Amino acid sequence: MENMINTYDAIVIGSGISGGWAAKELCEQGLKTLVLERGRDIKHIEDYPTANMHTWEFRYRGAMPREFLDANPLISKAAGFGDDTAHFFIEDADHSYVQQKPFDWIRGYQVGGKSLTWGRACQRWSDHEFKSPAREGYGIDWPIGYEDIAPWYTHVEKFIGVCGNKDGLDAMPDGEFLPPYELSCVEKHMQKTLLDHFPGRYLVQGRWAHLSEPNDIHLQQGRGKCLCRNLCMRGCPYGGYFSSVTSTLPWAEKTGNLTIRPFSVVHSILYDENEGKASGVKIIDTNTHEEITFYARIIFVNASALNTSLILLNSSSDRFPEGLGNDNGLLGTHIGFHIYRGWANGRIEGYEDKYYYGKNPVECIIANYRNLGQRDTDFVGGYTIFSGSYRSRRNNVPDDHPQLGVDFKHQLSEPGDWNIYMYMQGETIPKASNRVFLSKDQKDSWGIPLLVTEVDYDENDEKMVQDFLDESRSMLKKAGCQDIYAEDNHQAPGLDIHEMGGVRMGKDPATSLLNEYNQMHLCKNVFVTDGACMTSTGNQSPSILYMALTARAATYAVDQFKKGIL
Ligand SMILES: Cc1cc2nc3c(=O)[nH]c(=O)nc-3n(C[C@H](O)[C@H](O)[C@H](O)COP(=O)(O)OP(=O)(O)OC[C@H]3O[C@@H](n4cnc5c(N)ncnc54)[C@H](O)[C@@H]3O)c2cc1C
Ligand code: SF4
Repeated sequence: MENMINTYDAIVIGSGISGGWAAKELCEQGLKTLVLERGRDIKHIEDYPTANMHTWEFRYRGAMPREFLDANPLISKAAGFGDDTAHFFIEDADHSYVQQKPFDWIRGYQVGGKSLTWGRACQRWSDHEFKSPAREGYGIDWPIGYEDIAPWYTHVEKFIGVCGNKDGLDAMPDGEFLPPYELSCVEKHMQKTLLDHFPGRYLVQGRWAHLSEPNDIHLQQGRGKCLCRNLCMRGCPYGGYFSSVTSTLPWAEKTGNLTIRPFSVVHSILYDENEGKASGVKIIDTNTHEEITFYARIIFVNASALNTSLILLNSSSDRFPEGLGNDNGLLGTHIGFHIYRGWANGRIEGYEDKYYYGKNPVECIIANYRNLGQRDTDFVGGYTIFSGSYRSRRNNVPDDHPQLGVDFKHQLSEPGDWNIYMYMQGETIPKASNRVFLSKDQKDSWGIPLLVTEVDYDENDEKMVQDFLDESRSMLKKAGCQDIYAEDNHQAPGLDIHEMGGVRMGKDPATSLLNEYNQMHLCKNVFVTDGACMTSTGNQSPSILYMALTARAATYAVDQFKKGIL
């Protein structure tokens, strides 16, 4: 009886960016789908408690109290973390892990996962990124290329809404874009500087999951135009940016095929030796501590890269004692990330009579110009540069000036100098030695072993950071900037919040865990479509690729399901 009540066509583990897409596709294509989510439920608008608060309405103007910072040294480092967004991040004690080497693992456990707090950068991967690792010998072959995923990028872009320009760049392919936001006068100046002096380098508007001009499909989702408030990470009451909570999950719910079960920590996936496939998923209810098993013919694992490795490593059976599908011992290895260590800034004169409209929530991009098609540096891989301009205020107010009174207020209302900033997002080499594994002696509150992280930078990373520092300095100088600084912040891996790998795709079951449809080579009804599946890291922001891979894999899974193969 329990089996019948708890049986679905498909189970999706995790409700974040990729899990939301799995739910949408599976439900839309007719499968009764259960989404298991360890965190609490989040409802669009009603669970955005700070969305319309002014700075002065927060306890400490948005800063967190000292006791919180002392108790949460990890999470309080996250980009955008503050009193206004803290409700969408976990606290450090909520889910411990063991840092064999320093790794900042940033997490948001709730319905919607990190889709509520992500930065929304949505560039497509170029074919170079798929091909370079195998060609240059720093990775295995991807089982797919750009041409396989391009239609799925289009599918996702149209639904979530991505604004941008068609720039015709080899390093960053065009997509189905909503109108772009305008570049500022200083950004246009930098764009021209690169065209005039740096052949092959292009500053363009980034591609962002913002509804600059909603289409009918977005209005059908109940979403509206982005109003340029740049308060997105608090949750946007207008649905101006894409999150699972505003978009994919409600869409799936409308089909009548979706069940979401929050407060459900997945412990493991169960393997049926007789059938030769996974039979279900064991969870622990975080309110009652009850262990419950749910059954399905298809299982999508979308718990975000490292948690997906954790769940699969913890899914041991007589057939798979080292974790589900892990005959080759590669589960949890080849963890990749993006290098965010290089930052640069310069002050520029000559545009004092100009300003910009609103709080534009997007940034420009200088598309990767390294190792495109052939090796042209002493390191492998490439880097994207995010860039933008801003007018400061603070530099009008001397440090020794009292921070109160009428004069201070007047000075704050005067725009200061124009500045241009740049920061890098660099590719890393997936390596067996960068890995996660289960602690043998430490467990969390639910009896699940803690994850151990052993991930580090290498010599290639150091060379790439140095190249960015040299090049950003020279681009800012050529643009006429002064007071230039370019610095390595030496942050630990992980703070880049783009963790990838652990359950990589590949052509050969001896060197990978997933096939070209993200299906486990050795357990065909289990699909992994979050960052864990990444064969290499590329240099583009990865989440839209997870969405595209998920939509593609789900469509394949449904086809197999309907033919009775799964
Ligand atoms: C501040 C910030 C800025 C970012 N900016 C960008 C950007 O601009 N562009 C970009 O491409 N990416 C960006 N990212 C990264 C992006 O958020 C992630 O790549 C993306 O959310 C990953 O999607 P996912 O579905 O794998 O995981 P998530 O969105 O994290 O969802 C995973 C879900 O699984 C649940 N879960 C985990 N373990 C279990 C378990 N055992 N049982 C049940 N449920 C579980 C979690 O609670 C969570 O809800 C950013 C991230 C952060 C934090
Ligand atoms: S900038 Fe746009 S998406 Fe962000 S909070 Fe404002 S309206 Fe919403």
